[in-house]
Parts: sequence; C-alpha cells; structure tokens
Amino acid sequence: MAMSTGEMVQRAKVRALSEGLQVYRIAPDAYVVPSKSEPGEAYEILIINGDPACPCPGFVNRQVCKHQQAVSMRYAIDIQEPNKSEE
Ligand SMILES: [Zn+2]
Repeated sequence: MAMSTGEMVQRAKVRALSEGLQVYRIAPDAYVVPSKSEPGEAYEILIINGDPACPCPGFVNRQVCKHQQAVSMRYAIDIQEPNKSEE
C-alpha cells in the first residue's frame, strides 16, 4: 500500500520528534541536522522558496525525510521570531 505524501510527512515528523533530532541554524535559510545513523555526519538543509531541502537519500527519493521535517518545524518558529539570535 503506497503512502500518501501527507502520511509520509506525518511519519517523518513523528520520527524527527521521537528520535530527538537536533537542529542548528547556521544562517537565516540554512540549518544543520546531525545524522543519528551515522555519527559524525550531518545534513545541511537549505530553505528554498520556504521549503527545506535535505541532501539525504530518503529525501532525494521521496521528497520527504525526518531531517527536513525537523527543520520545517523549527523554521516555522524561527520565521515568527525574526529578532531571535541564531543558535
Ligand atoms: Zn534527510
């Protein structure tokens, strides 16, 4: 049974939260999420036209991944607090 995009997004969001993915803002439109499966590795996620794009294989294949969703949740907060200093 193929999952809809909405289901994939929801699943990725749950994984991002349950795995406690850390999100670091390195620029107004750039974030870094350390990999859980490969210690020492990290994904650099850029916000392109308001949408985070992750270089991981999962995102490349499905246009959805937990890193992207972790950043998406953080970005939604950051854009509401433009004066907040970068982490
Ligand atoms: Zn990813």
